[in-house]
Amino acid sequence: IKCIGILTSGGDAPGMNAAIRAVTRTAIYNGFTVKGILRGYRGLVTNEIVDFHSSSVSNIIQLGGTILKTARCEEFKSVEGRQQAYENLKAAGIDALVVIGGDGSLSGANIFAQEHDIPIVGLPGTIDNDLGGTDATIGYDTALNTIMEAVDKLRDTASSHERLFFVEVMGHTAGYLALNGAIATGSEAAIIPEMDTEVDQLAELISQGFRKSKNSAIVIVAENPRTGGAMGLAERVKKEFPQYDARVTILGHIQRGGSPSAQDRILASRMGAMAIQAIMEGQRNVMIGIQNNELVYVPFSRAVRHNKSINRDYVNLVKILSM
Ligand code: ATP
Repeated sequence: IKCIGILTSGGDAPGMNAAIRAVTRTAIYNGFTVKGILRGYRGLVTNEIVDFHSSSVSNIIQLGGTILKTARCEEFKSVEGRQQAYENLKAAGIDALVVIGGDGSLSGANIFAQEHDIPIVGLPGTIDNDLGGTDATIGYDTALNTIMEAVDKLRDTASSHERLFFVEVMGHTAGYLALNGAIATGSEAAIIPEMDTEVDQLAELISQGFRKSKNSAIVIVAENPRTGGAMGLAERVKKEFPQYDARVTILGHIQRGGSPSAQDRILASRMGAMAIQAIMEGQRNVMIGIQNNELVYVPFSRAVRHNKSINRDYVNLVKILSM
């Protein structure tokens, strides 16, 4: 292997730039050349590939977003699209690939690696923390901090009025941002998709009489197309519990932005360097994960399996601490 290609794909996440920098500089340090692929898989299909040098990644560790840009690419979901991508890779002389992205991006990498002879190493780049085999993903900590700052501000206004505030956060189908956001902000409850088949979380919350000892409550709600997220809950409150004044705040894309936290920069730097080590060791089709602060290799098939469970102790903690 002489030349390593790098791309970011899917939703952007703070810390992707720190990862790009670490991959690029570790590769160059070990004698590889590096090429940057613009706009994720789309740039692979449309052949937007540029030479990367050490200076290409100067002064980016503190920047949110991704200097390589990112995109969603339908063509890459077809055999023909992936064939074109492979031909472009070969023509550019790229013989190993580092993919930084979320669940969809690593699913795509997994399929691509099964069809074509190219070693691929993935890095978990998503604010959602919804990948298997890793305690954290790049961008998750920064997004959590953004949620914390926003909810702290809402708390000021919520406590001036007597209101039930539903704050919707991202997470795709995972409740990590909501649950840990609730703990970090001292919110009254978190409503998360992992729990929604077991109990009616809203009815439970209301039945606890959240307002008995408090004059306002903040409930962090994970986005969830099945329940309609925070909007869906507020509608239900209006109908079933009209005595409560329910308000909705959807934090939206501000959760994806901002300068990465120290934790995300360090995680991205460690994982980026490890991706090159993985390639040198002959690893392929693995994502770099972190478990108990140790970097580990996670096969793509396990990373994307949606089997990450929520720690029930955290759910109980929100309940106990919000009494
Ligand atoms: P996030 O979770 O942060 O939104 P993501 O990586 O999950 O990020 P997706 O939009 O799901 O984002 O996927 C990004 C791209 O990966 C898609 O646009 C597509 O090009 C590719 N991809 C996703 N799933 C597949 C698949 N099953 N086969 C081939 N390519 C895929």
